[in-house]
Amino acid sequence: MTELDNPTFRLAVAQFDQAAQQMNLDPNLRQRLKMPERSLIVSIPVRMDDGKVKVFSGYRVQHDSARGPSKGGLRYHPDVNLGEVAALAMWMTWKCALSGLPYGGAKGGVRVAPEELSRAELQRLTRRYASEIFLMIGPDKDVPAPDVGTNAQVMAWIMDTYSQQVGFAVPGVVTGKPLSIGGSLGREDATGRGVVYVALEAMRHLGMGIENTTVAIQGFGNVGAHTARIMAEAGARVVAVSDRLGGVYAANGLAIPELLTRYRTEGHECFRDRGVGDRITNEELLALDCAVLIPAALSEQITGKNADQVRCRILAEAANGPTTLEADQILLDKGIFIIPDILANAGGVIVSYLEWVQDAQRFFWKATDIQERLRDIITAAFGETLQFSVDQKIPMRTAALVSGIEKVAQAHLVRGLYP
Ligand code: NAD
Repeated sequence: MTELDNPTFRLAVAQFDQAAQQMNLDPNLRQRLKMPERSLIVSIPVRMDDGKVKVFSGYRVQHDSARGPSKGGLRYHPDVNLGEVAALAMWMTWKCALSGLPYGGAKGGVRVAPEELSRAELQRLTRRYASEIFLMIGPDKDVPAPDVGTNAQVMAWIMDTYSQQVGFAVPGVVTGKPLSIGGSLGREDATGRGVVYVALEAMRHLGMGIENTTVAIQGFGNVGAHTARIMAEAGARVVAVSDRLGGVYAANGLAIPELLTRYRTEGHECFRDRGVGDRITNEELLALDCAVLIPAALSEQITGKNADQVRCRILAEAANGPTTLEADQILLDKGIFIIPDILANAGGVIVSYLEWVQDAQRFFWKATDIQERLRDIITAAFGETLQFSVDQKIPMRTAALVSGIEKVAQAHLVRGLYP
């Protein structure tokens, strides 16, 4: 437990404990599911461009595999640690079960600031990491995908490293790959699209329309940027976006397509342009008076310290673990409708699942088929969670966790304890 002990892991376990208590979970299973099934820590020596060797720490954690191969992203960030990776792996288990995907949960990470590495260094780091965790991964074992700081190119290097080891192309070893090696249409914006689909369902439930609804988004990476674009396309007024250096605000709505184009080349600099909007800090963004607030960056952003200032009607958790337990209660007391992370950001793993299925059958679908299937799966999960929450008079987060944990528990109980 000591190696895992960090705030994110404590948050994941506290959420699990609350749900386990609520559902009266079998104590043996409770003991087992609190901890990961398997964790690996690796050292990754990398020859840097200046000829020196630098050693990075990497992790892969499989939380559970009772329902199928474990599935989960790979994070490159300087704060990555075993506890955080284990927490993210646990959330993946509940997320996959909640959406009915035949997967368990996993997560990986490397303690590195990817923006400080050259492309060649990043490739060497990725390939060495992939070869260090080779024994754990595979299309039927554990399937990585992109997360913070990684992308389709990183997945391509992992797919190639794995395929070189076994001697033939294995597209299904990762998802979120480029299309040319078996990626799926619609994977890149899947998480953002899923966030919009569930936010629309929540608005419908609360009797709100999308037209001109104000939306603020923390984080302008893969998830945040696509969420902003799709929200704007759906008719919402995106009033603020941010990245780790701060954000930009315009009461009448930001011109998202133009901002996206500029951000691709200028990066954060375009947020400083007065013609785009007013400068705003990440703290201020979270406290904006808006209909929908979407944290799409890192965990523990809404805490006991700032939850009181949050003024949205709907909180759609695109990031994993953005709300601490203490903040959760404050938001609930304020009557904020929370779409919990394991539901709100499930679009990514849902389309990863569709990619994996297409790879297995060597037959690929149209973008519209993917979007339709994503919508079907995520809105069904939302509907079931909402119904359960209303019937049992429990918060959406507890309802989502209990539903996910229940499916995992059933799989364990019917399979039995080995040996
Ligand atoms: P990303 O690396 O593409 O983007 C992260 C964004 O967060 C960047 O804009 C970065 O500048 C910003 N950021 C970093 N630190 C910040 C801080 N302290 N304050 C404000 N902003 C900060 O990562 P991503 O893939 O978009 O992932 C974002 C979140 O969504 C993560 O919590 C991730 O686990 C979760 N998620 C991602 C996926 C996926 O498919 N990529 C799926 C499910 C959940």
